[in-house]
Amino acid sequence: MTQTYQITLLPGDGIGPEIIDVTVKVLKEVGKQCNLTFNFSKALMGGAAIDETGEPLPQQTLETCRNSDAVLLAAIGGYQWDHLPRKQRPETGLLGLRAGLELFANLRPAKIFPQLVDASTLKREIVEGVDIMVVRELTGGVYFGQPKGIFATETGEQRGVNTMAYTDREIDRIAKVAFEIAQKRNKQLCSVDKANVLEVSQLWRDRVTALCSSYPEIELSHLYVDNAAMQLVRAPKQFDTIVTGNLFGDILSDAAAMLTGSIGMLPSASMGDGKPALFEPVHGSAPDIAGEDKANPLAQVLSAAMMLRYGLDEPTAAEKIEQAVFQVLDQGYRTGDIMSEGMTLLGCQQMGDALIEAL
Ligand code: NAD
Repeated sequence: MTQTYQITLLPGDGIGPEIIDVTVKVLKEVGKQCNLTFNFSKALMGGAAIDETGEPLPQQTLETCRNSDAVLLAAIGGYQWDHLPRKQRPETGLLGLRAGLELFANLRPAKIFPQLVDASTLKREIVEGVDIMVVRELTGGVYFGQPKGIFATETGEQRGVNTMAYTDREIDRIAKVAFEIAQKRNKQLCSVDKANVLEVSQLWRDRVTALCSSYPEIELSHLYVDNAAMQLVRAPKQFDTIVTGNLFGDILSDAAAMLTGSIGMLPSASMGDGKPALFEPVHGSAPDIAGEDKANPLAQVLSAAMMLRYGLDEPTAAEKIEQAVFQVLDQGYRTGDIMSEGMTLLGCQQMGDALIEAL
């Protein structure tokens, strides 16, 4: 029987529409092969939405997203909207979308493709085989804790304040996501905190440890964030799945991503308790190459694979897409951002054709 999914597409700005087009073709092909039907609805988001409606996340877009099984976003933003007040900026739309869909878990894989090992700034023997998933808490911690602000003190000084706080409920729900992701991977989970200094981290460590008894197959370890940062660049292969709070995750997910050396290859997911989740490449809208057919669509295509694996529970279809990406790289096909000597340079659309061929 054919399984049908409603997918909201948010092409956004810059290279967004180009890489979404390629991804839709790939999804249609893999759908044919795996008996899946995707009903796509496009909605406005970011600068494109500002131009049409005056706001970066129109209510109608949010409703369309809420009524779908998954949301596939490309990228938003561009120079022409940079002067707008914060409330009307494209990025504000993204924050609104995450809040509106109650997405509290950010999944950031950092996987090195053997064909692109030399794109990393680290030595081949350090990064070869790296395959890490960073699970970052997205809606709590120091970015949102109260009180926050810049206050005048009694002595007339100014005092900037942020509060790092997590409730047991917030810790449990992100830890649960991480345990379940680790279950689908190599069954190793490293929880990163600063429990030697911060009370909030002590609670974090206690709750994660307590939850582990529900996941007997998972090997749980703990690292302080300073050591985790060091280990990520010293010996990244020791990590499988990492779970951490908002601030530490913000920093560590970027550090982990850069082990791969190529921004055009990095997908991500943001998930909540139920459907739908949001899947998007890590990179931005690349306005410098927009409309030139030079964009690398692979991060977007790999985001669609994440959507299939983690959002729709269709691992076979996800695997097919990941294999196709592996194959086109193996065949020596490259877009400009990952081009190296002896390889074949392709445009965005041609890379899409190569993927279809590989599928
Ligand atoms: P960027 O990621 O858009 O671009 C950085 C560099 O990487 C550019 O040289 C670009 O050409 C290149 N690049 C990025 N993605 C590529 C791809 N798929 N293929 C080939 N090359 C690629 O970051 P930026 O220049 O700092 O930001 C541009 C705009 O994107 C800004 O408006 C920013 O706010 C926005 N942005 C959006 C998101 C998002 O939508 N989640 C994330 C980051 C930045």
